[in-house]
Amino acid sequence: MLQLAEIFYSVQGEGMWTGTPAVFVRLAGCNLSCSFCDTDYALKFFAPVSDVVRRVREEGGACPLVILTGGEPLAQRETLALIDALRADGRRVHIESNGTLPTELPDDVWLTVSPKERLSPEMAGRANEAKLIVDGRVPEEWIGAFGETTPMFLQPEGNKPSNVALAVDAAKRDPGRLRLSLQTHKFIGVR
Ligand code: SF4
Repeated sequence: MLQLAEIFYSVQGEGMWTGTPAVFVRLAGCNLSCSFCDTDYALKFFAPVSDVVRRVREEGGACPLVILTGGEPLAQRETLALIDALRADGRRVHIESNGTLPTELPDDVWLTVSPKERLSPEMAGRANEAKLIVDGRVPEEWIGAFGETTPMFLQPEGNKPSNVALAVDAAKRDPGRLRLSLQTHKFIGVR
């Protein structure tokens, strides 16, 4: 049985896939407890894998993209079964992870890693994109942990102007490596 916080249909607001419609499956719980966390990942309901696949269909119809987020989606053992069931249902699966839990994922799963207090080298190596949160400082310590060709997004916490300025300055200093990623969904008032 999976532990879930919410399932909803929206648009990816961050990173490489910004603007792409997607069904979001927010799994409950996290193995970290970051002081700045503003995500409500509290447990709201339990559901078997088959019910989650059905809810994804009800919410998103033929939408091909499903984003598993959290909390930490890889902290639940049944998440791998959910990934397989969604792929079997014809969906593309993206995962947004803090990158702490080494997990073997199918090759066609897109992995976004946003490191916080620690990072698994396996997950850093597997990441399709990295998202670094800029909150009063640019977390330069994570940049070298990812492959040189891994797209790396600097995301200003809360879209705050001071964090945006830090991120823009850092991206301008290292234009071959860093890009700005704003939480665009917050500008247009969607989840
Ligand atoms: S890893 Fe992410 S979801 Fe978990 S506590 Fe930290 S910011 Fe929140």
